[in-house]
Amino acid sequence: MTFLEYAPAPESTSILDLKTEYGLFINGEFVPGNGESFTTISPATEQTITTISCASEADVDTAVAAARRAYEKTWSKLSGTDRGKYLFRIARLVQERSRELAVAETLDNGKPIKESRDVDVPLVAAWFFYYAGWADKLDHAGLGPNPRSLGVAAQVIPWNFPLLMLAWKIAPALAAGNTVVLKPAETTSLTAMLFAEILQQADLPAGVVNIVTGAGATGSALVNHPDVNKVAFTGSTAVGRSIARSTAGTSKKLTLELGGKGANIVFDDAPIDQAIEGIVNGIFFNQGQVCCAGSRLLVQESIHDEVVDRLKERLSTLRVGDPLDKNTDIGAINSASQLGRMRELSDIGEQEGATRWSPASNLPQQGFWFPPTIFTNVSTSHRIARDEIFGPVLSVLTFRTPAEAIAKANNTPYGLSAGIWSDKGSRVLAVADKLRAGVVWANTFNKFDPASPFGGYKESGYGREGGRHGLGAYLAPAAAPKSSVVSAIMNKTPLGGSK
Ligand code: NAD
Repeated sequence: MTFLEYAPAPESTSILDLKTEYGLFINGEFVPGNGESFTTISPATEQTITTISCASEADVDTAVAAARRAYEKTWSKLSGTDRGKYLFRIARLVQERSRELAVAETLDNGKPIKESRDVDVPLVAAWFFYYAGWADKLDHAGLGPNPRSLGVAAQVIPWNFPLLMLAWKIAPALAAGNTVVLKPAETTSLTAMLFAEILQQADLPAGVVNIVTGAGATGSALVNHPDVNKVAFTGSTAVGRSIARSTAGTSKKLTLELGGKGANIVFDDAPIDQAIEGIVNGIFFNQGQVCCAGSRLLVQESIHDEVVDRLKERLSTLRVGDPLDKNTDIGAINSASQLGRMRELSDIGEQEGATRWSPASNLPQQGFWFPPTIFTNVSTSHRIARDEIFGPVLSVLTFRTPAEAIAKANNTPYGLSAGIWSDKGSRVLAVADKLRAGVVWANTFNKFDPASPFGGYKESGYGREGGRHGLGAYLAPAAAPKSSVVSAIMNKTPLGGSK
């Protein structure tokens, strides 16, 4: 250990009381799946954590039937106030078990414990608290009085924020009066299983939330099930596209939260100290495995060298290693296949002529690791400037005028997030107005709040999660009363009034 290096401060895993095998969570109980079970491993050590059941098509059918029964017999009959009580209870239980959830999330996903402890799990509780408050106020969701729930929601989530994505999906669905079948990602099902235990503790009526584990085939069986009314998917654009195709022409309501290639724009009048921290947070938070990551840095040409030098200095202080260590800044990459993609795209970056730089670091021998990486001399045609790498890799481009910054930022098939760093509020507002991105942060990055809608343009998907808009995705306007339908037909006027 050299002078001023931190001593190891590993978080203990003794708080965990994991089972050796987890079944599917259907109708309020854990049941074995009929597919072939698989193991979930720690990406930092490649050691097996536990065994997870795999849901077959028949299991998915059982789960959807349980959700349908719970919808018709229980959940849709409860008042908003009573639904809210369950959500508040879940939120409080998440807080009570927060340390355990954070340790499990870090173990299974590879993200640093300081992130799961201080970001993921607190936001999970915040999401349930927020939507608990909405459950008895649906008249104000923007769909007119007495909006209707949709029925059974099929929800498929990715591995980068396992518990947080679960909360983004389940909390608004339940608040709006729907029941749920959720499929976590195959590499990160562990915290969904702990969450199922929380649902049992909260006495949530059986079948209101069902969790089926497995890989893509299980997800496909779920979203294609004929008895689901709503599909909510977060994941890759490729799978999102196939779900859009398979749900087209059905009555299923669809929300897609897909990939991104966010631009983080730094003007020459930006507060540089804060901007450096914002750039680091934008691309190295969660090892860059963030759909809204600021993976393209657009920096004004006059300050390019200063910004890159200071970034390199800052990156040299980041600690890469054991995700359970409280001092770790960058943990493990979630899977071997994800690591392979980062390596492949970074190699292509070099082959195409960009300059690659990473700080000196001793990466562990075991597990999946990728050092924080900066590419300079990047042009807009390079694959590292166009493709989503989904890792701790920053591509630096330059611009001279605000118009050029806007043109380069929008030059992407995606449109999920962007950041603007400038001292001038008027410039921030003018630029933000022209960016085709669902979320634009000003002098900050990667800030999430349950009250704020989140979602994309173009290949980043459609629909919004969070806030009132996220609630609306699980509701439909009240059915028109029969009398108005009859009079509309007789008078040949459009429903909802004349022009
Ligand atoms: P992925 O699309 O391969 O998998 C996501 C989920 O879909 C997993 O649960 C997987 O099992 C399931 N799945 C796979 N094939 C399926 C199919 N044919 N039908 C139904 N479900 C299927 O994505 P990934 O590699 O696990 O996740 C990374 C991607 O997710 C990145 O592109 C990232 O940008 C995106 N993402 C987006 C957001 C957002 O909010 N916009 C958030 C997180 C991740």
